[in-house]
Amino acid sequence: MAKVCVIGAGFAGHTAALYLGDKLGRDHEVTVINRSPDFVYIPSLVWVGIDRMPVEKTLFDLERVYSRMHVRFIAGRATEVHADAQQVVVEPNGDEAAPVQVDYDYLLIATGPKLDFAATPGLGPAEGNTWSICSPPHAVEAREHYLTAVARMEKGERQRIVIGTGHGAATCQGAALEYISNVHKDLLRRGVRDKCDLRYLSNEPALGDFGIRGLSVKHKGRRRTAEDFIGAVFRDYDIEPLVGRGVTGVEQQAIHWQDMAGAEGETDYDYAMLIPRFVGQPLKYVDADGTDVAEKITNPAGLIKVDGIYGLPYDELAANPDAWPAVYQNPAYRNIFAAGIAFAPPGPISRPHVNPNGVPMSPAPPRTGMVSGIIGRIVALNIVDLVKQGRMTHSERMTEMAAACIASMGDSMWDGSAAVIMVYPVVPDTRRYPNEEGRDQFVTHLEMGLAGAWMKRMIHTTFMHKLQGRIGWKIIPE
Ligand SMILES: Cc1cc2nc3c(=O)[nH]c(=O)nc-3n(C[C@H](O)[C@H](O)[C@H](O)COP(=O)(O)OP(=O)(O)OC[C@H]3O[C@@H](n4cnc5c(N)ncnc54)[C@H](O)[C@@H]3O)c2cc1C
Repeated sequence: MAKVCVIGAGFAGHTAALYLGDKLGRDHEVTVINRSPDFVYIPSLVWVGIDRMPVEKTLFDLERVYSRMHVRFIAGRATEVHADAQQVVVEPNGDEAAPVQVDYDYLLIATGPKLDFAATPGLGPAEGNTWSICSPPHAVEAREHYLTAVARMEKGERQRIVIGTGHGAATCQGAALEYISNVHKDLLRRGVRDKCDLRYLSNEPALGDFGIRGLSVKHKGRRRTAEDFIGAVFRDYDIEPLVGRGVTGVEQQAIHWQDMAGAEGETDYDYAMLIPRFVGQPLKYVDADGTDVAEKITNPAGLIKVDGIYGLPYDELAANPDAWPAVYQNPAYRNIFAAGIAFAPPGPISRPHVNPNGVPMSPAPPRTGMVSGIIGRIVALNIVDLVKQGRMTHSERMTEMAAACIASMGDSMWDGSAAVIMVYPVVPDTRRYPNEEGRDQFVTHLEMGLAGAWMKRMIHTTFMHKLQGRIGWKIIPE
């Protein structure tokens, strides 16, 4: 009987767990360890942060799903991986609970990001001055402070709201874009939009870069870039874009940043939601003697090294689609895999930039929910292959992967909107697509409108259905 352990039940780990439970759960032992007893549908936290969705609607109980799917579940924090002994040490939730050990033949690390607020002085809700919508407690806290700002506007006070990224190397600009668009629509609905200055502060080199080197699409007979589209929306919504800015510190009411040329500046605010840099979760990796083997398993940021080619100069990486991992397997310990934000990309997709003062201005590659789910599925199916036939038959590089993203720009079913973005491949492949962008220009698409708002709402419902392993879950794509 094979033992498979998955650490982390987000989009990557939970998708993998569903496939593993389905295909191995009856005859083998599949264990999932997750810090929280609930799955979190993170994309809808955007709506929690403006009080348009109760946080409970973004959660479901994992144990209930896993008990049906032949998966053992431990709610707790994995702290150590003993790579030779093939064991994970877990601190189960609850004050009194003693650490437990989980044996594995195959391990999938899908722990998502550690939100590295500490990398920017003064950033974050715990010890800093800004809010976040990256987790349920953060989104609830952000909502309360947002509503305080709204109450001030209702009394006639002018408020300055800043939304964006809080570090030069942050990723997930799409979430910030969604949040600012939803804040705009929400303030309009509440009749106080004229009392607010809205600013979008981002480390992207240009609007619409998203850490994927931007995109361009054919629209009404001519090529238009994501920068054109989003610039037009921002003009329409009266949102001031401040891009190419790496935040260096936050004080109460002032965000300090440097731009790409090295100039320093500050942006005043009353309410700010800034996404931090993401790094890997701090797990301890040891060998049979108890020696730290983190160097063999993770990169310096704590993300898991897999079968990509690391260390290539940017132009060489951009010219080599095969440098991106195919099976997400650690080369030193071949029974350890990683999926979602936890795996280390071989480098950035957008051209990296360090300003003359040494401040990095490089949006990291996004591993969105869809990308994370696809990688989770690929890894799960390969583990099934290894258990059943001793060799892997599945692979998908991000240079071969299509991804769709629907960025909400107002949730109303009457006058809401969303940008429906389809990119193929996620990471440009100039060998297969020898155009300026390195993407399939037929498939790559961007469309905005009310239909997108309907799709975004439907996706919430459809995914909550799929991820609970309900009838037909396998035919709903990641
Ligand atoms: C506000 C917001 C909106 C977004 N909107 C979209 C969107 O519209 N579309 C889209 O595609 N993507 C969106 N994303 C991105 C998407 O949420 C992420 O890409 C996705 O969650 C990554 O999945 P993951 O499984 O790698 O990590 P996560 O979802 O973060 O899951 C990791 C899991 O591992 C657990 N964990 C961590 N460490 C440990 C440990 N030591 N022991 C046990 N468990 C551990 C965590 O508790 C968590 O449950 C959004 C992100 C944000 C923040």
